[in-house]
Amino acid sequence: MLGIVGDTGVSPGLPPELAAELCASAARTHRTGVPDPEALAALRGSGLLGTAVPARYGGTGGGAPEVNEVVRRLAMVNPSLAIVAFQHFAVSARIAEWGSPRQRRELLPALADGSRLAASAWSEPGAGAAKHHITSTGERRRDGRWTLTGAKSFTTAASIADLYLVLVRTDDAAHGDPSLYGSPGQSFFLVPGDCPGLSADLSLDLVGMRGSATGFVSLDGCVVADEDRLGPEGRAADIIAAVREYGATLGAVAAGIARAALDLALEHVVRRGTVAALPVRHRLTDTATRVEAVEAMIERSGARSSPDPGLTTLHSKMFASTTAEQVCLELAHLLGSAGYTTASDINRLVLDARAVALMGPTNELCRDIVAAGWAR
Ligand SMILES: Cc1cc2nc3c(=O)[nH]c(=O)nc-3n(C[C@H](O)[C@H](O)[C@H](O)COP(=O)(O)OP(=O)(O)OC[C@H]3O[C@@H](n4cnc5c(N)ncnc54)[C@H](O)[C@@H]3O)c2cc1C
Repeated sequence: MLGIVGDTGVSPGLPPELAAELCASAARTHRTGVPDPEALAALRGSGLLGTAVPARYGGTGGGAPEVNEVVRRLAMVNPSLAIVAFQHFAVSARIAEWGSPRQRRELLPALADGSRLAASAWSEPGAGAAKHHITSTGERRRDGRWTLTGAKSFTTAASIADLYLVLVRTDDAAHGDPSLYGSPGQSFFLVPGDCPGLSADLSLDLVGMRGSATGFVSLDGCVVADEDRLGPEGRAADIIAAVREYGATLGAVAAGIARAALDLALEHVVRRGTVAALPVRHRLTDTATRVEAVEAMIERSGARSSPDPGLTTLHSKMFASTTAEQVCLELAHLLGSAGYTTASDINRLVLDARAVALMGPTNELCRDIVAAGWAR
């Protein structure tokens, strides 16, 4: 394995032992496609999972800048666990923002100390990137509780999460245009991983992000209390729209991947002596400039310092993911034959980078949302 951590000293801020363990795990899980319990335990015990939880609930009270930076640093050593952490942070932040006092009191401390891991189960086969055609349902029972039924796909941290933020349709007759992401009549529920009727399987064989436990989640008549609903009934789309205003971006995953690829290539050309060649130096310099630009954009998204922070979050995701994918591919070529072996981490990074564009909101959906603002 070419050294991502040790040789280049990257990943400041992650304890070196944790960084080394997650880095070794990334290579291992890429081969096996099976999540690594030891690396997960290390992440859970690191204290990092409390980043998005307010201090009064035991977290470190970070906002989007801190979330993006932790995710970026994790992605430098282990992109799969970076997306696991990203989903955990997203659910934690939604509970902090939209949760009832009881939900905050009961859930946030355990999400902060890592004893509970959270995941988002929104996507379904055929639901479409914009989630307009969700067929999973929530039906209100006579006793006021809800029965949840349906099949979710591409849920990151499936089977390893203790809590799922599940998107279901609760009102077929809801009127109004679908928003660009989500529709009227959809609601969110917080479902414990051990809820009777909930099952997860990891039979999805991904080409990248292979340590992320991204798989299927089935809801076979899961009964949950009305108090387990997150936010207003039928208004999940409002919560989804608010996500991008917060400034946390999956682009941070792409930024970490791009930086890791650059470090890997630099280490290689220095070791091989090809760094002396002017074209190689210039190529790497141009790549480094693009990685710097990605990182600056992620910072701008987290800082919410632009005139329209929600738009900046979308731009940062699109720019970071497309740039990271290009950068990884170009660097794979620069490594030459040495990069064309399964032992080279560059190939894993190429495949991991591709996932970010596909993750929600997909880059195409981001474009639609940005352009819709111009039509108003
Ligand atoms: C590694 C990974 C992890 C994921 N983790 C999660 C998770 O934790 N939770 C979760 O809920 N989901 C997750 N997803 C799913 C992700 O969020 C996407 O929403 C989902 O994959 C999109 O579904 P699709 O590609 O089947 O959509 P489709 O609608 O089939 O889209 C296929 C392609 O067409 C594009 N497209 C769709 N509509 C349009 C349009 N109108 N105009 C132009 N292009 C369009 C899409 O952007 C996409 O590229 C994950 C996906 C991946 C790859």
